[in-house]
Amino acid sequence: MSNQIAKVIKQTFLNLKDKSILATPLEYNKEFCKVAKEFKVEVNECKKFQEFVSKLNAVELEEVKKREIKTPEELIPILLERIAIKNVSTLSEMLTSSLTPSISLQLDENLAKFNIKIGNSPALMFEEDIQKEMQSFITQRFASDKAFVKQKTEDIAKLVTLMGKYLNDAITNNTSGSENVSGIKEQIKAIDISKSKPTDLSELQNRLVNAVENIENEMNIVGKNLEKDKSNVCQLEDRIKCLEQELEVATKESRTDHLTGVLTRRAFEKELSKVESNFERNTIEYAVVFVDIDFFKKINDSYGHEAGDVILKTFAKILEKQTREYDVICRYGGEEFVAIVHFKLKRELLGYLKRLKTIVAENKFVYEDKRIQITFSAGVSVRSQYKTYEEAIKKADELLYEAKNNGRNKIILDDGKIL
Ligand code: GH3
Ligand code: MG
Ligand code: MG
Repeated sequence: MSNQIAKVIKQTFLNLKDKSILATPLEYNKEFCKVAKEFKVEVNECKKFQEFVSKLNAVELEEVKKREIKTPEELIPILLERIAIKNVSTLSEMLTSSLTPSISLQLDENLAKFNIKIGNSPALMFEEDIQKEMQSFITQRFASDKAFVKQKTEDIAKLVTLMGKYLNDAITNNTSGSENVSGIKEQIKAIDISKSKPTDLSELQNRLVNAVENIENEMNIVGKNLEKDKSNVCQLEDRIKCLEQELEVATKESRTDHLTGVLTRRAFEKELSKVESNFERNTIEYAVVFVDIDFFKKINDSYGHEAGDVILKTFAKILEKQTREYDVICRYGGEEFVAIVHFKLKRELLGYLKRLKTIVAENKFVYEDKRIQITFSAGVSVRSQYKTYEEAIKKADELLYEAKNNGRNKIILDDGKIL
């Protein structure tokens, strides 16, 4: 068979020479196959040879030419040698790349030199010393990749720990658990390290760093909002304090009469209901005393309205002073007052009424350089004598007018006593 091929090759060269065609691999193939057909060489053989030739490049063909092939027979071993060399260099390329760490980007200087050496003379691969060196590079390559992966894994672990800390801080500092922070947490959870290729490591690192930055931004915003809220809360607290004070003053004002400081009629009605429930539950007796200053209009007319005010204030003070803590004094209107006076024995009540009358009778009211004498009239009812407190009040009021109609300056009790 090889004899047949040699003939085909010889004829191919002759034909190319005759046609003055340069023996490029392509031209050579074309001609070779044509000749092979003429020589009835099997097509399979032709194809195989075609493959050999296709592996040669122009330079190699040139080299073949330079070797001054005298006979086509010489060509076969040369071609085979070339193909063998080519295979060895392919092998050496594969070898050098297999020795280069694939994960670690670090390339050892010795390995680089070794690769160049093998690249230049691939045949060295078959020497024992070189093979030992190769073995040591393989070991180093694994160690280098392993160390790189270990270091990256540690970096990720550090980052993840840091993320946990950031998240914790962010969430504990922000009790409402902001949606942004939760979002970041989900993002981190979604990162599947086990599925990451080594080349994804820096991408992963970037994502983690981004997440940290997001958390930092979020924390800044939360911090600023808290500061703002804090000052708002302070302002609100101040406002509330003011309002509380205003309310307290307003309540007190609405409960007490601005001129005399005793209870207003409205506040009196509330107090009276307490007194009444005490009477109903504990039978604590009390008297209703209606008091009205006599001819007060005249006092105003004679001494002036301001003098009238001073007298009203002083009169209210006398009433307060003579009653006990749980008794109730109220300015019922104008120069009319009502007192709720608790007592156990009737003479206690009489004693109180007499004291009141004596104090007013024996003292003159002083306004500027004027000393003003006043009198008052009163009607008194004792609660237990009536079914309801309204009836007791009505009676006291009626007795006051009775006193007015009977010459004033007198206190009339519901038992008919007059003081
Ligand atoms: P009576 O003995 O019948 O009670 O005669 P009065 O003049 O005291 O009674 P009247 O109801 O005729 O007049 C009450 C006067 O009291 C009229 C009003 O100007 C005066 N008065 C009411 N409230 C005040 C007040 O707050 N200050 C002053 N200065 N006078 C008041
Ligand atoms: Mg009066
Ligand atoms: Mg009156």
